[in-house]
Amino acid sequence: MPAGCSEASLLCNQPMPNTFMDQRHKTYITLPGLHAGMLSPEQLEHLARLAKDYGIPGIKITSAQRIALLGMEPERLAALQNDLHLDTTPPHSRKRVHYVQACPGKTWCKYGVAETLGIAKQIEQLELDAPLPNKVKIGISGCRMCCSESWLRDIGLIGERKGWRVIFGGNAAGRPRIGEELASGLSEDEALELIRKTLNYYIREARGKTRTARLVERIGIDAVRKAVLAGHDPQQQRAEKETAPKV
Ligand code: SF4
Repeated sequence: MPAGCSEASLLCNQPMPNTFMDQRHKTYITLPGLHAGMLSPEQLEHLARLAKDYGIPGIKITSAQRIALLGMEPERLAALQNDLHLDTTPPHSRKRVHYVQACPGKTWCKYGVAETLGIAKQIEQLELDAPLPNKVKIGISGCRMCCSESWLRDIGLIGERKGWRVIFGGNAAGRPRIGEELASGLSEDEALELIRKTLNYYIREARGKTRTARLVERIGIDAVRKAVLAGHDPQQQRAEKETAPKV
């Protein structure tokens, strides 16, 4: 894989879940689903054994925190799929996001102020109203150092001492764009609800296969905020609660 290549640029055809055709070499690549790049020793052993058994010529950790088995011959693909017992990543065609990247968070990093891996899994399980118009990349960082490049993802989360900051509309591709804040100081549940609402808004408002960055450029972040925070602005609700007279 040439330096700088993303999965998307290499993987063009999807004959079955988690498998793609490398158009250049006419062989297949299998991407067993991982949750935010986490692997158990057993999964790692299993993958290593399969890679040897199937004579897989290349193994690559991708920018999406997944593992690509490169150069697999098409004839043996179905057998390999059967032997892979890892969870499969839910593709975006199933009303779910499928690209959630997270840093180790406060469980494993001394700078972390938020736990990232649990919320990553919950985001993967969010049920949306319809399939997403295009890929949605989500980057979760456990502190402001932003190791998951949250400002450059369709949805970015940054853990801060006062809660989660949620960012929308970032993109690191051909027309890069820094995302913009939707809200901050959110609890985990509030952040999840805001992400669900924002993705459903994207599903409704995107023209064709527009990515979120282009949507925000077209309609402006204020319109997005107005739609997704309408009647549900957690910061405002909290402020109102704090200032409400005690009875
Ligand atoms: S973003 Fe913060 S918590 Fe996450 S790996 Fe980087 S320094 Fe650690």
